[in-house]
Amino acid sequence: MKSCAFDYERPRDIAEAISLLAKENSKAVAGSQSLGPMLNLRIVQPAVLVDLRHLEELKDFFEDRESVTLGACVTHARIEDGKVPDPTRGFMRAVAGNIAYRAVRNRGTIGGSLVHADPAADWPAVFLALDGEAVVTGARGERTIPASQFFTAMLQSAVKRDEVLSEVRLSVERKRAGTAYVKLRQSASGFAIVGVAAQVSLDRRGRIEDSGKVLQAHDTLRWNCEPP
Ligand SMILES: Cc1cc2nc3c(=O)[nH]c(=O)nc-3n(C[C@H](O)[C@H](O)[C@H](O)COP(=O)(O)OP(=O)(O)OC[C@H]3O[C@@H](n4cnc5c(N)ncnc54)[C@H](O)[C@@H]3O)c2cc1C
Repeated sequence: MKSCAFDYERPRDIAEAISLLAKENSKAVAGSQSLGPMLNLRIVQPAVLVDLRHLEELKDFFEDRESVTLGACVTHARIEDGKVPDPTRGFMRAVAGNIAYRAVRNRGTIGGSLVHADPAADWPAVFLALDGEAVVTGARGERTIPASQFFTAMLQSAVKRDEVLSEVRLSVERKRAGTAYVKLRQSASGFAIVGVAAQVSLDRRGRIEDSGKVLQAHDTLRWNCEPP
């Protein structure tokens, strides 16, 4: 099947993207790795596609001692290749490298994956485990959404149709912490049949602070200190 006909817009900045998204039945597109199949199946039939992927401000990154902020259009491949800072000392690089195959990773973006909110995708689970934050920009300015409030239902996020997810912010991993992501991979697509992400910290006595988060992943935790 082919997509229905739509207009294509390529805004010059986020402000223009937001005003285009305010038009009736318009839809943001980034890497098109999830939206593309949905268009072809006519699950979505937008009148206008607003292409975010050329906006430099969405491909940028920023880091300080506390956190790393990635523009929403940073691709999986740039994370895999270490072209952007990894606040988790290699954990995110490994997760990115395990998404689908390289052609998908070259175009797919971390922001697109989060807004798409597919429970079988990798970044949503990792974003939750790392307690990330999403910065969303709309006509009324910016708002910051914690990961715990970002996903509202299956395939639905707190980002409104006329808003742009502009930044994904992740805290720099504490020294005495461990992270893990385990996925039972569907062999053709790479999507998770089951995916479990965890981040745990050790207290001063070397005990796991929040053992509720450890789940089944304990054996595969990648510790950055002596394991407990
Ligand atoms: C064959 C195949 C295998 C795959 N395997 C995996 C896998 O193993 N693991 C995995 O995690 N994913 C997998 N994916 C999905 C892939 O990672 C996509 O890149 C990702 O889900 C969506 O990112 P995107 O940039 O392509 O978003 P798009 O497809 O462009 O957009 C997805 C949705 O997000 C919205 N959107 C995108 N960016 C923004 C933004 N900045 N602000 C507001 N709204 C936005 C769009 O309107 C749309 O609703 C696979 C995809 C394919 C085609």
